[in-house]
Amino acid sequence: MNTTGWVKGLRVTGDGTGIVSHAGVALIRALADNIGLTAGLSKALASDRLLVHDRGRVLADLACAIADGGEVISDFRVIGDQQELFGLVASVPTAWRTLDEIAGGGQRALGRITAAVNDARRRAWAAAVSRHGALPGVRIAGKTLDGVTCIRLDASVVTCHSDKEGAEPNFKGFGLHPLLAYCDNTAEPLAGMLRPGSAGSNTAADHLAVLDAAIGALPPAFRRRLMVTCDGAGASHDLIARLDELACRRGYQLIYSVGWELGARERAAITAVPAQAWQIAVDPRGEIRERRADQACSDLGCGHRRCWIEEAHVTELTSLLRAGPAGDQLAGWPATMRIFARRERPHPGAQLTLFEAGDGWRYTLWVTSRPVSTRGWLGQPAYIDAAHRVHARVEDAILPQGSSACCMTLGELVM
Ligand SMILES: [Zn+2]
Repeated sequence: MNTTGWVKGLRVTGDGTGIVSHAGVALIRALADNIGLTAGLSKALASDRLLVHDRGRVLADLACAIADGGEVISDFRVIGDQQELFGLVASVPTAWRTLDEIAGGGQRALGRITAAVNDARRRAWAAAVSRHGALPGVRIAGKTLDGVTCIRLDASVVTCHSDKEGAEPNFKGFGLHPLLAYCDNTAEPLAGMLRPGSAGSNTAADHLAVLDAAIGALPPAFRRRLMVTCDGAGASHDLIARLDELACRRGYQLIYSVGWELGARERAAITAVPAQAWQIAVDPRGEIRERRADQACSDLGCGHRRCWIEEAHVTELTSLLRAGPAGDQLAGWPATMRIFARRERPHPGAQLTLFEAGDGWRYTLWVTSRPVSTRGWLGQPAYIDAAHRVHARVEDAILPQGSSACCMTLGELVM
């Protein structure tokens, strides 16, 4: 491992407003070294062959180049071109060779790399906690939920402009369809599964594998109080059963929320919801998602369509579906599972189902195990909705520009 001397004694302050392009790589690289990521990868990728470039160093440097905004392997030059800053750095062909060797190592190599990354995370989080007292809380609509580790599962479509391996046509065009798990507290990827573009958005087996990998990626002390969310209409019996099983372990808490499909029974329940049972939703800043039209009537709580603009409401459908005239329509699902619906005025041009077009609202449904007995703001439907719906941030973190910012956030936490 080659460490350049100037890194010693380096201090990072959190008061900078921007990141100077590529100069930030030095800090990200120092972070990788300080938390033992580089050394761990070196051990994971150790070889009997005589190699000029340690493969752990090369892989750690590749990660740094990606965190710096690199999009293709040749962006690795950003590091290679600055030998006075970084010492001897591998060439782009060596980076490719390293990746080929790792691919050739199959699942065993992958397992060793994952273990090295998870070890580095354990050290990084321990350092963050020793410095700040705790990990950042989960931000929910302008409020913060402390003491809980939040995993967000997200099937994301990555658009490709060229014919890459696995890139296939999908509902957003052409590309890949990876399933990713992020830690919301640190805006950090925990686990992922590369999938071809045609992979379904709610393939239960994929969700189970990525969920287990994500929990395994957490330092053990942070697995005891979990919140897991999964967007899309991803609820399957297998996923809910697994989440329920994890939630039932003695000494552990797990609250989940998972997207749910709008089917015939849900439409019937929505139709039966009394007008006053729809409560106002809040946006990510915690502000009300509703305003009165200029020509609104004097009844501030009215249900006239012309009186409201940009509305969003939340309601719970559980009792309608569990104890309605048709009997328990959620039999076979855990008794702790509750079902919620959000309705929004559709954006112009939004694709609506016939039901939604007739009704004038766009609906999003999800199920959660958040107990009815939850006290305070977190028990209110608006916040149960907000806790389920902060995926915009997850998608931001996937973008290269976002990952640099998130690495710097981690750097500020740790160094
Ligand atoms: Zn009115």
